[in-house]
Amino acid sequence: MILNAPPRPPASGRKGPPRRALALVVCLAVVTAGCQAVPTTTPGPSGQVRDRVGPGGPTEADGRLPHGATVLDENLAGIGNLDPALADALRQATADAADAEIEIQVSSGWRSAAYQNHLLEQAVGTYGSEAEAARWVATPETSLHVSGEAVDIAPYDAIDWLSRFGASYGLCQVYANESWHFELRPDAATAGCPAQYPDPTSDPRMSR
Ligand SMILES: [Zn+2]
Repeated sequence: MILNAPPRPPASGRKGPPRRALALVVCLAVVTAGCQAVPTTTPGPSGQVRDRVGPGGPTEADGRLPHGATVLDENLAGIGNLDPALADALRQATADAADAEIEIQVSSGWRSAAYQNHLLEQAVGTYGSEAEAARWVATPETSLHVSGEAVDIAPYDAIDWLSRFGASYGLCQVYANESWHFELRPDAATAGCPAQYPDPTSDPRMSR
């Protein structure tokens, strides 16, 4: 699945093109707005959200991951239930990123249908309507997390690293409004990642 040796980022003194720097700033702004919620606060855009969990809420068996989890934590359901090809690709990327002193963490991987439903209900509460919530959270039937085919990545430097080098592993961002969300696109190693959807409502898979 992993075809090419990945490019390595320059060790230091990097002077990337301005466009890249701007993209990173935008990415950071979006992620910060959406993803810094603490468990007791209102969640932002939810792919990356630290959801509120009360009694009877989703557990580790539902795929909740502790802070700092990585793809190597296969004993956790959220990692162990990932699509094997996706997990393989992410393991290789994680190892190579570590050489660049970047730790690729997984904030969310596989989720049970109950967990996804919990996120959806929270999003409806947050955004006020199912239509708006759908821009951020898929249903249990359509979520690529429930099928184990998506991972949400943290922290910011890992998202940035994967946004630049992930294609070599077939790891691609899918939605312009969810920079942290990656899926496997095996052809990306040779053809590059496909164009991103503006948000999940533009993804035909979300209305199947
Ligand atoms: Zn996601």
